[in-house]
Amino acid sequence: MRNKIFGEPVILVVDDQATDVRILTEAVRDLGQVYFVTDGRSALEAARRWRPDVVLLDIQMPDMNGFAVCKALKSDPKTCDSAVIFVTSHTQTENELRALEYGGVHFLQKPLNIPVARAHIKAHIALRSEAKKLANHDALTELPNRTLLYDRTDQALQQARHSRGKVALLLIDLDHFKAINDAVGHAIGDAVLQVVATRLKEYVRVIDTVSRQGGDSFMVLMPELENFDAVGDFSAELLSIISKRIYVEDMHYDVTASIGIGLFPDDSDTLESLYWHADTAMYQAKQHGRNTYCFFSAEIETSLRARHQLELSLRSALEQGDFRVFYQSKVDARTCQVAGIEALVRLCSNGVIVLPNQFIPLAEETGLIIPIGEFVLRQACYDAKSLSDRGHAIPVSVNISAQQFQVHSFLDMVKAILSESGLEPNMLELEITEGVLVQDIDITCETLAALRSMGIRISVDDFGTGYSSLAYLKRFPVNILKIDQSFVRTMLEDKSDAAIVATIIKLAQVLGLELVAEGVETEEQAQALLSLGCHVMQGYLYCRPIPFSGMSVLLDNNK
Ligand code: C2E
Ligand code: CA
Ligand code: CA
Repeated sequence: MRNKIFGEPVILVVDDQATDVRILTEAVRDLGQVYFVTDGRSALEAARRWRPDVVLLDIQMPDMNGFAVCKALKSDPKTCDSAVIFVTSHTQTENELRALEYGGVHFLQKPLNIPVARAHIKAHIALRSEAKKLANHDALTELPNRTLLYDRTDQALQQARHSRGKVALLLIDLDHFKAINDAVGHAIGDAVLQVVATRLKEYVRVIDTVSRQGGDSFMVLMPELENFDAVGDFSAELLSIISKRIYVEDMHYDVTASIGIGLFPDDSDTLESLYWHADTAMYQAKQHGRNTYCFFSAEIETSLRARHQLELSLRSALEQGDFRVFYQSKVDARTCQVAGIEALVRLCSNGVIVLPNQFIPLAEETGLIIPIGEFVLRQACYDAKSLSDRGHAIPVSVNISAQQFQVHSFLDMVKAILSESGLEPNMLELEITEGVLVQDIDITCETLAALRSMGIRISVDDFGTGYSSLAYLKRFPVNILKIDQSFVRTMLEDKSDAAIVATIIKLAQVLGLELVAEGVETEEQAQALLSLGCHVMQGYLYCRPIPFSGMSVLLDNNK
């Protein structure tokens, strides 16, 4: 059935007179694959089955005449593209007009002038083939496009259902391709895509279809498989072929891809599920660090559904106001006075408190961290202001994700929240991770300087776990280093962690930065940190994160 979509043109002859059928089929025999039927109903059936390029249609037939057949063909999406040429002995212009009205493209007079008729039929075949090519191919790579791929996949599945065969669908998505487009422009990007397309086309089996889905994503349809044993190796080979260095205009480019694989009938029973599963698996391959392939599996689907569910609940939590801000104090261990509080977000879902590690990563991926972060900042500023109004002038620190920092309006947002809450800027501290600092150095530096000139203080969170480039500490206007809790946790048992803690403390002293040790859980840890020169501590030893009401009471008592 494959050749119905591409390959030889198909001509369907419909005439109730045996002699006419013979003359017509004889006349067009060498122009393509020719089928004939002798009544209207069979014509519709045959057209759906063979998808003819051209239908040579008699008008006068018993039961269903040519006009009715033409009308039915044109109203069925599977057959509406066929070019219908009426062949009849009717001579009236009226008939000719009617034929065109019903969607016919031409009107041939019996008895046929064979050479003239052939010329017309040939012209229509050529037109159809050009139109099919345009409609079914991607202009850039000349590969079959999405439409054609779906059609072929549909047919491959039908065939596999009959023959109990197997079909694999691979979705190939180039990794970080946008970076090439952004760096060297679309013309070069297009040339790279063409090279990838050619490599794929040359590698697959003759019966496979490589298609470009658009952008930097391709698909390979593998029909007629006996089993899936080789699909993994095949995918690995595709990855290695794609990642071979690409040369365009004396420059070279290294591209990798992620492949997701859906399998019929093992994990998918319809075209839609096959496609969706390949897509899901591709996404998983990206998660696994790219330049790899991944088969779809039920577990992937379950975990994706859970993610989707979580995303929905984050959105609804934003609308319903289900986020809460908890506070944990930072304590000066020498005086046991509270030196500051850190705002830590919580999701309150049907009375259950969900911790940020469960939803911040997804919130960052989906961009929801922007509104969530804004909510936390606003709440924290209002809470700190109300504390300071009650005589507790204690700075509040708020965690800021890298994405928030990238938003152009970030500075304006901070300013607006400070002014609406009335909090003094020097009572606000922003905690950023080392990741933020290495993003876009110039912009980051500018933003930090602007924040600092407003009087806001900046601390580097989880210090020591990130990029550990010390150069930026000198360059960026930061005030505080927070020693990551992973070092504190093991500093008494692990000599190298103890050495890291000691080094961070020395570094802060040399650079004139303040210090906070995170995750202090025992008196021994606190003593060790104190003796090394770090005085401000945050951890369960002093206080767990608690709601604002609890923090107010605690501060009142602390006074
Ligand atoms: P973080 O900024 O490093 O915050 C410290 C985390 O350590 C908090 O976890 C806190 O509850 C926990 N912790 C404090 N003391 C101890 C201790 O003695 N032992 C142990 N084992 N853990 C301790 P939490 O609240 O679950 O937050 C986890 C992370 O989620 C935070 O790590 C921060 O990166 C992120 N996060 C929290 N709130 C926000 C927010 O509003 N915005 C953003 N962007 N991230 C947030
Ligand atoms: Ca923090
Ligand atoms: Ca931390």
